[in-house]
Amino acid sequence: MSTTYDVIVIGAGPAGYVCAIRAAQLGLSVACIERYRNAEGQGALGGTCLNVGCVPSKALLDSSHKYAEVVHGLGHHGIAVSGVSCDVPAMIRRKNGIVNQLTGGIATLFKANGVTALFGSGRLLAGRKVEFTDHDGKTSVLEAGHVVLATGSRPIDIPVAPVDGKTIINSTGALELEAVPKRLGVIGAGVIGLELGSVWRRLGAEVVLMEAMDVFLPIMDQQIAREARKVLTKQGLDIRMGCRVTATEVRRGKVTVTYLAADGAEQQEGFDKLIVCVGRRPVTDNLLAPDSGVNLDERGLVFVDDTCATNAPGVWAIGDVVRGPMLAHKGSEEGVMVAERIAGQQTQMNYAVIPNVIYTEPEIAAVGSTEEQLKQSGEPYKVGTFPFAANARALAADAGAGMVKVLAHAETDRVLGCQVIGPAAAELVQQAAIAMEFGTSAEDLGMMVFAHPTFSEALHEAALSVNGHAIHTASRRARKK
Ligand code: FAD
Repeated sequence: MSTTYDVIVIGAGPAGYVCAIRAAQLGLSVACIERYRNAEGQGALGGTCLNVGCVPSKALLDSSHKYAEVVHGLGHHGIAVSGVSCDVPAMIRRKNGIVNQLTGGIATLFKANGVTALFGSGRLLAGRKVEFTDHDGKTSVLEAGHVVLATGSRPIDIPVAPVDGKTIINSTGALELEAVPKRLGVIGAGVIGLELGSVWRRLGAEVVLMEAMDVFLPIMDQQIAREARKVLTKQGLDIRMGCRVTATEVRRGKVTVTYLAADGAEQQEGFDKLIVCVGRRPVTDNLLAPDSGVNLDERGLVFVDDTCATNAPGVWAIGDVVRGPMLAHKGSEEGVMVAERIAGQQTQMNYAVIPNVIYTEPEIAAVGSTEEQLKQSGEPYKVGTFPFAANARALAADAGAGMVKVLAHAETDRVLGCQVIGPAAAELVQQAAIAMEFGTSAEDLGMMVFAHPTFSEALHEAALSVNGHAIHTASRRARKK
């Protein structure tokens, strides 16, 4: 094994593995250290995203969506179905198969690009040296021209609901349940809580989400968030805001949760399982030797500038372990930026245009500024909205709930943000992201030809509606702010 590399990446999640591959494409010698072991005890690449995050959650969201559609969504189309049943272990096996396929795919990509995968733990020493401890406990010291920290994040634990992996679980445990719990509690009604709550609700669980904050989905445009709460509540998700969990008690495989409700009254609820989904925190334990020269910020994230450089020369940090939204694609783009900077290029990613998706049904997605953010910044803006209830493709698909909202600068007409709740929201917001990346105006978007009938026409109409030109809606007056 070589001990000297141009680049050593610590962590093989979507930030680290993308950085490693891009650096190798640019002709650099690269090693990527990963300590994760899968259920079979084997080292696996892909990080949280591929093993216990984005990919497995979407696999179960898709399976549960198909089940719910067969049970509840076909009668309306004149299709009668009986004898439907749900085999949870088979769903979990399918999900595990997808995870193994994708993590194995990263190993193949590493081989193809000449990236050395080292399974074990990495620790940054002074002077761009890395202490590597393999899974048998053997330690060696590697040297690099550049070191990239990409150690990601893990679920936050709260003392009032200690995770035991059986009755009280975190997001990882919620992807492994062997049967549908009759009553499922979820602490936290954020993105992950809503997605995992949706999986088990669709499969038949009674789901109660207890959220300490008073505002539902504060990261989202509140017009969209209000619509989302309405739609999700109708699906049977019992979302309780301003609800502070103060204690939990596990007895005979069930859990009693005590909480203070929004009105201050103490309440108790019993559940078969409780998922704790209150956010994620950066992983930096045993990562930095005291003289490594790398600083953490007040939230425990590795401190970096806008090119992801840390305080220590030649040491970079990317992904969930640094500031910014904890999203796989944000980390991947940082990985590309850092690899290219190491290779001498001047790449700078655009932090203003990072799409964000919640994979509920319907999807909720956003890019750029929300109306609340624009109000707060004082930037003059115009709004255009278009409901899916007036979109032909959505009605044909039985997906008429929700809307598209486009925000544009009041004077320049430049698109500043786009929020969608509705069918294919993730794909529509990506179209808006491409438009924003090129500095498109709402008028430009409105002048483009969109295929008919498509969900995308709702984006077209919302862009037209910014300047009062929407065709398929009665209210054509521009709303200027
Ligand atoms: P990670 O993916 O966490 O990878 C870091 C890796 O570093 C880990 O494999 C870890 O084992 C390794 N590591 C840590 N310390 C060391 C060390 N000292 N030595 C060696 N290795 C080390 N994001 C989205 O964009 N879209 C989604 O739909 C989405 N869904 C999600 C659903 C769930 C249930 C969860 C939990 C997360 C989801 N996320 C989603 C978030 C996404 O998974 C993370 O933002 C992303 O994985 C972060 O990438 P990363 O490379 O920074 O870190």
